[in-house]
Amino acid sequence: MSEAPANSSYHQQAPAVAERFRKLKERPVVLEIENLGREFPAESGRTAALRNVSFRVHRREFVCVIGPSGCGKSTLARIVAGLDSPTSGRMLVDGKETSGPCPERGMVFQGYTLFPWLTVTRNVMFGLEMEGMDRTQAQAEARQWVDLIGLTKFADSYPQELSGGMKQRVAIARALAPNPRVLLMDEPFGALDAQTRLQMQTHLMEIWRNVEVTILFITHDLDEAILLADRILVLKTGEVQEFIEVPVPRPRSPAQFQTPEFQAMRRRLDELIHPPVSAATERLPIVRLTQVGDDVE
Ligand code: ADP
Ligand code: MG
Repeated sequence: MSEAPANSSYHQQAPAVAERFRKLKERPVVLEIENLGREFPAESGRTAALRNVSFRVHRREFVCVIGPSGCGKSTLARIVAGLDSPTSGRMLVDGKETSGPCPERGMVFQGYTLFPWLTVTRNVMFGLEMEGMDRTQAQAEARQWVDLIGLTKFADSYPQELSGGMKQRVAIARALAPNPRVLLMDEPFGALDAQTRLQMQTHLMEIWRNVEVTILFITHDLDEAILLADRILVLKTGEVQEFIEVPVPRPRSPAQFQTPEFQAMRRRLDELIHPPVSAATERLPIVRLTQVGDDVE
């Protein structure tokens, strides 16, 4: 199944994967982030949630952003979505400097953000009508999205009649309906159980194959990032640590979890995200170790 040897490094790419990246980098840059910084007032002066963040995302690329809690992932997503402003640096979409919310960037959050008083179809129509589309056309377009996410039978249901996974599918359709250039997703499957989460990951890859959209997907789940991403941006305390090409061939499926490429990537992300256990133990105060006593093993 795989061309990489068992001890492969995440740098090794099968010829088809290397060729895919060569072509990907020839595509136009849709999203460009330049020296982005975001500071917040804090008790002791100011804290920098993001520092000097720079990266580029190409047309129809799927980029995952990972990093430990508090490293600035949501701040980055909110700025790219136009819901927050940077304190330094700038953002370009299709080469044009932009800020503030606008239909060219859609967002899906972890929490369910559907309007409970609107049906599935009306939820998807919402953004289209906000943009001034007339009702008949908005309804026709929303129906197509509802079909694409596999919820035709639930087109006239209300959110409370849907499962968690179904609600997130509607949230994705609602974000995609106004035809954004970039879709931001901030831990969108974080609240779902493991099995539903896998189904949603597969479903999202299917949607992405059928829709002309560039995706920036935030997660702290390493396997999720490897399964979904072309490249993974690793953040650490507000700074870009690495931007890594995922060597796992497409089309992707959970059957690849055990392949050498997947495992090599997993090891690398583990090294970057999780500090070695010995270093963590050394930082424990001595007094605490003494209190625990000798009988723990
Ligand atoms: P992540 O999503 O990776 O967990 P966040 O982007 O939410 O991280 O937060 C990054 C850092 O910025 C954290 O230290 C957080 O406390 C701080 N921060 C985020 N939003 C605010 C805010 N509105 N005011 C003050 N500090 C904030
Ligand atoms: Mg967050």
